[in-house]
Amino acid sequence: MSEPFGPELPQVRKIVTEIPGPRSRALSERRKHAVSAALGAAVPIYADRAGGGVMIDVDGNSFIDMGSGIAVTNVGNSAPLVAENVTDQVHRLTHTCFMVAGYEPYIEVCEQLNDLTPGDHEKHSALFNSGAEAVENAIKVARAHTGRHAVVVFEHAYHGRTNLTMGMTAKNMPYKESFGPFSPEVYRVPTSYPLRDGLDGAQAAERSLKRVEFEVGAHNVAALMIEPIKGEGGFIVPAEGFLPALQEWCTANGVVFIADEIQTGFGRTGEWFACDHEGVVPDVITTAKGIAGGFPLAGVTGRAEIMDAVHVGGLGGTYGGNPVACAAALGAIRTMKEQDLAARAVRIGDIMRQKLTDLQGKTDVIAEVRGRGAMMAIEFAEPGTLAPLADLPKAVAGACAQQGVVILTAGTYGNVIRLLPPLVIGDDLLIEAMDILCDTILAEVGA
Ligand SMILES: *Cc1c(COP(=O)(O)O)cnc(C)c1O
Repeated sequence: MSEPFGPELPQVRKIVTEIPGPRSRALSERRKHAVSAALGAAVPIYADRAGGGVMIDVDGNSFIDMGSGIAVTNVGNSAPLVAENVTDQVHRLTHTCFMVAGYEPYIEVCEQLNDLTPGDHEKHSALFNSGAEAVENAIKVARAHTGRHAVVVFEHAYHGRTNLTMGMTAKNMPYKESFGPFSPEVYRVPTSYPLRDGLDGAQAAERSLKRVEFEVGAHNVAALMIEPIKGEGGFIVPAEGFLPALQEWCTANGVVFIADEIQTGFGRTGEWFACDHEGVVPDVITTAKGIAGGFPLAGVTGRAEIMDAVHVGGLGGTYGGNPVACAAALGAIRTMKEQDLAARAVRIGDIMRQKLTDLQGKTDVIAEVRGRGAMMAIEFAEPGTLAPLADLPKAVAGACAQQGVVILTAGTYGNVIRLLPPLVIGDDLLIEAMDILCDTILAEVGA
């Protein structure tokens, strides 16, 4: 390829038209006639190229990417090793279906997952296409292993948009509204949300687990699934000790403890997986998003005896673990190792936290700055209260887009800005984006 791609793209913010520009507006017009109106859009532009820390639209505007396509392009868009592996694989074979004839990249991705996920016990993995599909399959495995039906999930959880995973997801709008009925045997209990519940980890765990014992019965529970840091729910970091207490309870009660690391995984929080921060070793872990540099791939990795409890032929799917997606994952994982992107996430997190802590001193609408590594959030509330300021994040994200910075929102109450830059973004670009974000917040609240 002769034209520069990936990290070779000019790493600059540059706005050359109004936003959206004429070509993006033309695509919006075509979209209206061709694409279901049910699909939303965080920014009103259409992307043409992306790499490193930038996304360039069809009008030639270069945006600083603070979203990574929702924590997917941790290694950046079109990362060289991903592009190389994919190009090579595309010229060998593009599909056999792993259940028809196997291929090496699938096995190698499973080996990598078994090696990189928490714990040094014997693990086996299976691959799928999407995060939701991985979550569904993790539940299938847990039910087959335990012979039980109940699934315990948490307030503010997000696990996907298929029927089972919608039922496991907490937030109604936009994920669940008008789509019921949902799957039975899914029970939601309180989580640990230090800002709002004031409980320490042990207290919060006791509150959650007492609910399970009284309302479900521990012996009925097949699986307890939790995001170690809530993603869509607003980057809620549980109080220290909460996750270990859940893990211990699961072990004591024969419940499969599943960590949904689909958003938190692959270096995002400064470790390979968010569970690593507290030494938590889940029985099963679901992965997707950051695994393959943008290709659709997901994994379920767990204790060998749990993963093997399902009858032969019980797991699978036409495309799951597609060879091109596996090749991409191997390129992405190699990139993370060679560039030590987990360490880079720590540095990114330090820069973001410093900027946001400074900002906190200049306005009284920030209830909390929280997160780990390159997964940082700001929760907004009415000054002096915890009443959510739900309109502010959207307004700020819109104003940032006008200035060439892509910012995402989150939170059950819609009052959270979440920052998920690619782990390959340069310091200068990151600082420029943070300064624009902070100035925009101050301008929006009239501080
Ligand atoms: C995104 C996400 C999912 C769903 O993944 P899809 O690939 O969109 O199906 C599940 N769990 C978590 C924690 C997620 O962030």
